[in-house]
Amino acid sequence: MEHNLLTARLVKSVLLSEKTKHLEFEVEEVSSFDFLAGQFISVREPRGDKFVTRAYSIASPPRANNTFDLCLNRVDEGFMSNFLCDRELGDTARFHGPHGLFVLKPEVEDVIFVATGTGIAPFRSMVQHLFGMDGSGQQRHGGRQVWLVYGTRYCEDVYYKEEFESLTAEHPNFHYVATLSRAPADWTGNRGYVQEHVYKIVGSRKDVHVYICGLNEMVSSVRRLLIEECGWEKKRVIYERYD
Ligand SMILES: Cc1cc2nc3c(=O)[nH]c(=O)nc-3n(C[C@H](O)[C@H](O)[C@H](O)COP(=O)(O)OP(=O)(O)OC[C@H]3O[C@@H](n4cnc5c(N)ncnc54)[C@H](O)[C@@H]3O)c2cc1C
Repeated sequence: MEHNLLTARLVKSVLLSEKTKHLEFEVEEVSSFDFLAGQFISVREPRGDKFVTRAYSIASPPRANNTFDLCLNRVDEGFMSNFLCDRELGDTARFHGPHGLFVLKPEVEDVIFVATGTGIAPFRSMVQHLFGMDGSGQQRHGGRQVWLVYGTRYCEDVYYKEEFESLTAEHPNFHYVATLSRAPADWTGNRGYVQEHVYKIVGSRKDVHVYICGLNEMVSSVRRLLIEECGWEKKRVIYERYD
């Protein structure tokens, strides 16, 4: 299928950790780049005499302009992740999209977002969208409880920590649970894997939507916990796998 290719120009680049970057782009061909919180774009670039296409979740909420953000991890020996992380300000990349069905359900029910690594990207989009204002000046969360459970090994890899902590301070219905699997002795926050924290939050509840994003091993493990061990309906567990 032929896709309409667009051009993204890099306007801001921030190093989040040794291997991870936050990148901000402007889309050249349009004045407004429309997408749903949680969707991804497909970057398509030539490699030798062929083209390589890779998906990247949009890490910003829909805005009334032509910008979007990505949260990119350099994969060892990987082509596209290094191509994008090596871009300088003003450089461009070609892409098509938005694509994907990993978007918020219309029901106003409590939600738990579960991510590891750059799986945080679609949840930065969804959280900022939910706690932003709609056209009539109402916050879109509609009063629901929103948990963000974010797991990583080391404290250096807790991306966007300050942003989520300030949202927690502003909104009593936003709960940010960052957990480290290899925490240093002086870490005063949560420890262990995301599964343990999801299990504690849900307890005996089955009326929550859980959204999971990251590498397949973690995604499968959280799905197994909820569907097989806790007896949840499959449709309540929505997921996006990066590999
Ligand atoms: C819907 C979707 C959304 C995604 N969003 C993001 C995102 O927001 N940020 C992000 O950083 N990535 C994201 N990814 C992963 C991304 O599409 C690429 O797979 C990743 O950047 C590696 O591509 P590459 O061309 O650099 O590596 P490749 O040249 O494809 O692979 C090189 C080697 O790395 C292994 N590998 C491939 N992907 C990964 C991975 N993700 N982690 C570890 N090893 C891997 C391969 O098996 C191979 O051995 C997403 C994937 C999907 C399907």
